Amino acid sequence: MIDLRSDTVTLPTPSMREAMARAEVGDDVFRDDPTVRALEEKTAAVLGKEAGLFTASGTMANLVAILTHCRRGDEVIMGDMAHTFVYEVGGSAALGGVHPRPLPNQPDGTILVSDIEKAIRPKDDHFPVTRLICLENSHNKCGGVPLSAGYMADAASLAGRHRIALHLDGARLFNAAAALGTDVKTLAAGAGSVGVCLSKGLSAPVGSVLCGTRQFVGEARRFRKMVGGGMRQAGIIAAAGIVALDTMVDRLAEDHANARRLAEGIAAVPGLVVPSMPQTNIVMFEVAQDGPTPAEIAARLKSEGVSLFAVGPRQLRAVTHYGITSSDIDEAIATFGRVMEH
Ligand SMILES: *Cc1c(COP(=O)(O)O)cnc(C)c1O
Repeated sequence: MIDLRSDTVTLPTPSMREAMARAEVGDDVFRDDPTVRALEEKTAAVLGKEAGLFTASGTMANLVAILTHCRRGDEVIMGDMAHTFVYEVGGSAALGGVHPRPLPNQPDGTILVSDIEKAIRPKDDHFPVTRLICLENSHNKCGGVPLSAGYMADAASLAGRHRIALHLDGARLFNAAAALGTDVKTLAAGAGSVGVCLSKGLSAPVGSVLCGTRQFVGEARRFRKMVGGGMRQAGIIAAAGIVALDTMVDRLAEDHANARRLAEGIAAVPGLVVPSMPQTNIVMFEVAQDGPTPAEIAARLKSEGVSLFAVGPRQLRAVTHYGITSSDIDEAIATFGRVMEH
């Protein structure tokens, strides 16, 4: 099976398995696990932040960040296509009592700074307090688009002027940095908190790291415990995260090149349209109006050994990753051609 459903399907590398077997561990709730501590310090350093907190998932990193920044009844501004708004089960509202204020995501993954500015609440007894802005880079549902360092800085300076916190959902921040030819530190510079996933393109089996100031991370650690995320000998999984940061970042460009080539191949298949070329590892494409439905196409592809998701009434998504080789791309393109013939 050529599995293009998501980069979350990536399996740990042999060197991750070795590091996991050898990892020195302890009770991390007591701060006794040297491997977790090493991963947290390393990730924080890479992101240019003071401290880091290992979480079980990206969803947990975002939830803990929102709980740490906001109190009940506070408002958080986020994109209407944001992972935090669409795919996190309404956790910030359900568990934090935090009021989401969705604003339109532009096709480039940004929220217009002017839209954010207009949405910030003036002081008034009728209104919730605007406490936090969440941005996402690269932007998953907008097709893996990277948000530029310039935009990130503009949004951060707006947040700073209004004394509102800025959280960056950087689940795929390393993909964004690779695509833009910059580093993650630059993209995260203006954010008070930033979470990165180790278990997507970086192929670790489990985990994300939430980074920020030492004080922020100290408070976040309490909220992680509150949501049941205090883990014990978690060095077993953190060990793979360290290998991920050491060995899997530089190869992301390969996934991006494969995504571009796949998109070009799909664009050449009659009945399929690629509205915009991928900049990272996510290929969004559409079926022509009178063609088969995305679900039908996905089912045909699956029976021919290519797995991906239908994500909208005319939209499908294919994601490249460590488990996909250049010859898999050739085979996938040939399969697309075959299934669209009948
Ligand atoms: C995958 C993803 C998450 C959540 O990560 P999980 O580890 O699956 O919970 C958060 N934000 C974005 C943008 C993502 O793509």
